[in-house]
Amino acid sequence: MATASRAIPNFVAGRWTPAQATELLEVRNPATAELLGATPLSTRADVDAAVQAARTAFPLWRATPAVERARVLFRLKTLLDRHKDELAVDLTREHGKLLADSRGEVQRGIENVEHACGIPTLLMGETLEDIARGLDCETIRQPLGVFAVITPYNFPVMIPLWFWPYAVACGNTVVLKPSEQDPLTHQKIVDLVVEAGLPAGVLNVVHGAREAVTALLEHPDVQGVSFVGSSDTARFIYAKTGETGKRVQALGGAKNHMIVLPDADLDATAEAVIGSVFGAAGQRCLAGSVVIGVGEAYGSMRERVLDRAAAIRLGYGLEDGVDMGPVISRRHRERVVDFINDGAQNGAALVLDGRTRTVDRYPNGHWVGPTVFENVTPGMAIGREEIFGPVAGLTRAASLDDALDLVHENRYGNAISLFTTSGKAAREFRYRAGISMIGINVGVVAPMAFFPFGGSRGSFYGDLKAQGRDAVQFYTDQRVVISRW
Ligand code: NAD
Repeated sequence: MATASRAIPNFVAGRWTPAQATELLEVRNPATAELLGATPLSTRADVDAAVQAARTAFPLWRATPAVERARVLFRLKTLLDRHKDELAVDLTREHGKLLADSRGEVQRGIENVEHACGIPTLLMGETLEDIARGLDCETIRQPLGVFAVITPYNFPVMIPLWFWPYAVACGNTVVLKPSEQDPLTHQKIVDLVVEAGLPAGVLNVVHGAREAVTALLEHPDVQGVSFVGSSDTARFIYAKTGETGKRVQALGGAKNHMIVLPDADLDATAEAVIGSVFGAAGQRCLAGSVVIGVGEAYGSMRERVLDRAAAIRLGYGLEDGVDMGPVISRRHRERVVDFINDGAQNGAALVLDGRTRTVDRYPNGHWVGPTVFENVTPGMAIGREEIFGPVAGLTRAASLDDALDLVHENRYGNAISLFTTSGKAAREFRYRAGISMIGINVGVVAPMAFFPFGGSRGSFYGDLKAQGRDAVQFYTDQRVVISRW
């Protein structure tokens, strides 16, 4: 049982504040099972306090010149750089990913803070003199007020930083609702935010789950919502914000395909496929899930993927000699194992079975070993649904066209990769893929901070994506002024 003494506080109006919630959710190290803290499932009243704090802080923050807002972010960037190693260790402890992955995640988060530091330039509008004789026209970008940011468990440092630094750089104030499964590392980032001098109430954090999210979606003082999570939740958020008339960007789940042509560099491709499917134990929205071998690429790819997958060493991400960590929770492990059972019972050939893999030193960790299926079809649950675990489905296609037909049967549209040495095939693929994040000889298609991040089809609900210029557009309204003097 989680004890109330381990309950983590909300952050409201510049102060760490205990939630009124009585329900708590344990946060444990998914490798060692050590109890790290407890997340309060905040109530509507907790959410209201945070939104009111954000609303109160808005007028003064909005009137703070963009260059001064940027200076706070510059100081935060310096502090994040100074603390990035300890943040990465904390992240591995609560999430389970390898320390190298955690370092990468913290770095990707910092890059968003860096990009948001350019806000004086990013916010600039446009002007045209004499749109008619003696009449001038200009556009200016203005912040809107309070934004809610709701994030998932798989990148608990980077994904909040995809959003709130841009929102506050633009002059808005924010209520962040992090994942209830691993909210601890971001708490330390809030300490750094305070040290950087962000005024009280500009960033608030409310911990919780469904009740807190619903309260944010229904709150009349929340102007817009940035969301990342599974597609079912993203669709719910999109519908609910439509009902309540808020701006929304809702990034959902994924089922990413990787197509290998016979002319690909097969060794480099196999490395990329392995990193994509099994990195972070498959818990990335950019994880490869179905590997389509075209023609004779299939057999050679199958051998290479199987050899490498079988050699992956499971263990605690803070220790040396480990290639893959656990999945986040017992419940999630059961979900992944259910998918593997389903695949084995419904026609796919299970050629590498990770269901019984354990790690002797950590008997209570949530382990799933690398798993590989052959003969996967789009109709099977393992070929259709997001598994979010270390499971590769191998399948064959006769041509690039046939491979794309298989991809387009799927409802998701987050990322896709092609492996080839043919420029013609790569161009054709880019033209026809119909998926938002496209990799050519790249296994994890992760746009950096200054580019938009987000999918299409069932992987994204909204229009403006995370990061890049989209973020600035999302967090501002473009006003047009026409003047005659
Ligand atoms: P999730 O949907 O369970 O939770 C995401 C957030 O929504 C959490 O803050 C959670 O508290 C809240 N939530 C969950 N259920 C809710 C409900 N019924 N009503 C209201 N709020 C609810 O997702 P997760 O398991 O934390 O994260 C994994 C998912 O996120 C995967 O599907 C993954 O593909 C997706 N993801 C997508 C991207 C992307 O860029 N598209 C990036 C990372 C993760």
